[in-house]
Amino acid sequence: MLRTLACIVAVLWAAALTAVPAAQPSTPRTVSLVVTNGVVVTVDGARRVIDGGAVAIDGRDIVAVDTAAAIAARFRGRDTVDAAGGVIMPGLINTHTHAPMVLFRGLADDLALMDWLQKYIFPAEAKTVTPEFVRAGTRLAALEMIESGTTAYADMYYFEEEIGRTTRAAGLRGILGQTIIQFPVPDAKTPAEGLARTERFAREFAGDELITPAVAPNAMYTLDADTLKACRALADRLRLPVIIHLAETKDEINTAADKYHATPVAFLESLGFWGPRTLAAHGVHLTPADVATLASRHVGVAHNPESNMKLASGIAPVEEMRKAGVAVGLGTDGAASNNDLDMFEAMRQAAFLHKLKDGDPRAVSASVALEMGTIGGARALGMEKEIGSLEAGKRADLLVVSMSSARQTPMYDPVSHLVYVTRGDDVRTTIVNGKVLMRNRKTLTLNAPQVLADARAFAAKVRAAVK
Ligand SMILES: [Zn+2]
Repeated sequence: MLRTLACIVAVLWAAALTAVPAAQPSTPRTVSLVVTNGVVVTVDGARRVIDGGAVAIDGRDIVAVDTAAAIAARFRGRDTVDAAGGVIMPGLINTHTHAPMVLFRGLADDLALMDWLQKYIFPAEAKTVTPEFVRAGTRLAALEMIESGTTAYADMYYFEEEIGRTTRAAGLRGILGQTIIQFPVPDAKTPAEGLARTERFAREFAGDELITPAVAPNAMYTLDADTLKACRALADRLRLPVIIHLAETKDEINTAADKYHATPVAFLESLGFWGPRTLAAHGVHLTPADVATLASRHVGVAHNPESNMKLASGIAPVEEMRKAGVAVGLGTDGAASNNDLDMFEAMRQAAFLHKLKDGDPRAVSASVALEMGTIGGARALGMEKEIGSLEAGKRADLLVVSMSSARQTPMYDPVSHLVYVTRGDDVRTTIVNGKVLMRNRKTLTLNAPQVLADARAFAAKVRAAVK
């Protein structure tokens, strides 16, 4: 008995001696999720592309980006996403949209801007925009964004607190701007009411993991100087980002010239409006002095190639802004003027538009378009330390994109393919803040058939509103 016991002790001791030195350095750390076996397009500082790569995620954060073999040696995922045949890339960042306007998608097209706004969009908004409408629209937009690979978006609309709650429930990241406008709108009779609503909204979401509340003065021509200054003051007091439409059309330039003898950029500069964490949407009609002002004030710009083309607004000086050091991201604008939220299409159209504008096929390369859709957008939002590339320490906002269709075969260069042949529908899996929102095309945070049914129900009301 004693001998048997001694024997067991000896065996255990020997096992412990041999197990300890072998096990310690190679014991893989358990993490929440490993995404593996894909071509990793990191969009990091060195623009690393890793064939047969993987990303280890723990909680909300990326902990390592490396070859699949190196990740397998160091990490064991409680969950694994197999990206075989696909690309693993940072989630796309849509820097300008009006999410609930998906419910106006295709309502009226091919009209002069003022006809389109005054006969369709403004009446439809006045009669239909309610908290219920905003919730149904945001759910539809969130479904479309998750399905097409957008993981973060900047928004400007009404009842923004409803957009915040819906976006958070869907699991998306949102930089959400409550609209301030001079005339009565569905959620505020006066700009003062709009500002008070913004403050309540900001307090509700203070410190939120996914939602960053913002102040969104609509544009310099829809607000007076005092209200524009009040928006800046509120943003400074509560430390909020500011989002504004800027120099979108020739009309806006003419209004600024007639009323203030200045460009919109110079007028806003004279008010002390420009400051850090400010995002200007469009920036189509800018002088070289305007571009210099935006650069010196560190204002980010959301470039919306499809909306600018469809509404014939003009072509933003994207190469000039980039050369001046302005952070330029891409946006879709609202679906009423696009008509979808597909950021892969936005990247492709940005590349094509600037090649044509400059008469130079080297303008906005695939790599620059991808940069604008990811890290450029993050920079424009002042969030480049958190999102926009696949790097250890950043939030885990990433996609697995299928690359196996006829249209994507063969693949010599994954960056070229992401910009020139890939569509939103090719996104297989979408992850935000470490959480899988869509897996193998199945959305996990939204009931897709219900979202579509609710949207169709609202369409009847919209149609009646513009009859
Ligand atoms: Zn807009």
